[in-house]
Amino acid sequence: MGERAAGPPLNPPSPPPVPLEITRANQWDVKIRWSDGHEAVYPALYLRQACCCAVCLERPAGQGPEVDREVHPLAISAAGTYGIEFAWSDGHATGIYPYKYLRALCPCPQCRRLDANTDA
Ligand SMILES: [Zn+2]
Ligand SMILES: [Zn+2]
Repeated sequence: MGERAAGPPLNPPSPPPVPLEITRANQWDVKIRWSDGHEAVYPALYLRQACCCAVCLERPAGQGPEVDREVHPLAISAAGTYGIEFAWSDGHATGIYPYKYLRALCPCPQCRRLDANTDA
């Protein structure tokens, strides 16, 4: 008697996580609490270097933006309903970080491990 194997469960696609709370962990770093319960601290320098605006992306490949190591966000504001805009202490304020991009940037060990898995 062969039992009919049930197919893989059909998981309805869950909505992408959005930040519920964006606070400062300290003068530099930004802490984000996501709607799926995930919480992570993004170092300011890391975030600044990850800026994906046209100005920063125009730089030659392999050269990240030159960033003041003391850079920190002066203001954090919502950019529409899909992202966050940072005004940085170095005067740069044109970068919008879409939620999806921010989440993919998450520097926590858990997310970095997931990254390593998908790369393999
Ligand atoms: Zn930029
Ligand atoms: Zn994470």
